[in-house]
Amino acid sequence: MTPAAGDHIGTLAVHAGHAPEEHMGAAVPPLYQSVTFVAADSDTLEEINEGRRRGYVYSRIRNPTVLAAEQRLAALEGAQSAVLFASGMAAVAGALDPFLTSGDELVALPDIYGGTLRYFTEILPQRGIVVRWAKSIYAADVAACIGPKTKIIYAETPTNPLVRIVDLPALAELAAQSSAMLVVDGTLGGPLNQKPLDLGVNLLVHSGSKYLNGHSDVLAGAVVGSRDLTRKVRSAQQASGAIMDPHAAWLLMRGMATYELRMQRHNASGMEIAGFLEGHKAVRKVHFPGLASHPDHQLARRQMSGFGGLISFEVEDERLARQVVDRTRLFGIGPSIGGIESLISQPGNTSHHSVPPQRRLEMGITPGLVRISVGIEDARDLIADLAQALEASR
Ligand SMILES: *Cc1c(COP(=O)(O)O)cnc(C)c1O
Repeated sequence: MTPAAGDHIGTLAVHAGHAPEEHMGAAVPPLYQSVTFVAADSDTLEEINEGRRRGYVYSRIRNPTVLAAEQRLAALEGAQSAVLFASGMAAVAGALDPFLTSGDELVALPDIYGGTLRYFTEILPQRGIVVRWAKSIYAADVAACIGPKTKIIYAETPTNPLVRIVDLPALAELAAQSSAMLVVDGTLGGPLNQKPLDLGVNLLVHSGSKYLNGHSDVLAGAVVGSRDLTRKVRSAQQASGAIMDPHAAWLLMRGMATYELRMQRHNASGMEIAGFLEGHKAVRKVHFPGLASHPDHQLARRQMSGFGGLISFEVEDERLARQVVDRTRLFGIGPSIGGIESLISQPGNTSHHSVPPQRRLEMGITPGLVRISVGIEDARDLIADLAQALEASR
């Protein structure tokens, strides 16, 4: 049960991070639900503390279950190292804070997660960090914001809710030219669909609450990258404490074991449902990068190997959108993405409710916009459900 270099992601998802012989032969990873670890004697404790001997002392610093889940994720991403956090937002903060001091500038692409937007507008400025917003996700508009004080370029891909795809090699080139770091939130892609670290991204952020765990029962975050950069991230995390709990790590480890299987299903059903929606009379527009009609389709094909299960589509107006949402039978009405269960929402009323209406329109969030997260149910049932909801609403 030892994964080797060259094993594929479905194999790594099952085996990476766990060696049964180190755990009394346990076929699957056990849970070390212990805050403290006691040493055989004082010399041993000293050796562990000084890093001369492998071992554990205190779970905020290191815990075997958390470490195992970190190794599994690093293997999925083909990265040197991963650091797990208590939530996706803790990971966003954890990836940025150690590299920013007062006076530094961060260049942010538009279309980022609401929580991140809040962090950039409420928290970073308080610390004296200037956030410059690029006018669009295109590299030329990002380049226009870069100056001598730029320390970080921050992007998200795919974006939510319009599922735009950001050109990562182009941004990596900008970052290299300006000696800034490129940090990317790749939550909505995931390691099966995209490998941002292979495209020049320095640190990759995940909300593990979405596709990685996939079962909507754990809040989790991760920062993935080189040993050098993640060492700084981990050191700051040990000091500030936003670590992942061992039980959450154990659940995440179990969730990741089926990651590839689930993601294949999300990808296949996503394509099928996007195609169905595009052909429906009541649907004016579908936002899904797997469709040839999507503005980033060519880029998505170069940069990704699957397009996920996040789809947005537009119907005539807000009232109709609300009816479609309310009339579905299998889709839960609520936020979040990437779980086994399908969800539906109106971004204008949920994730982007706090954005002023005019600004919302500029962002492309029309009143008739509906967002779905396609779960792993049978796609035929999901399509039949959407069909009846659209028919009944017309
Ligand atoms: C959900 C999400 C987050 C935040 O993750 P939490 O685990 O909810 O803190 C960050 N980025 C993206 C793209 C997300 O979808």
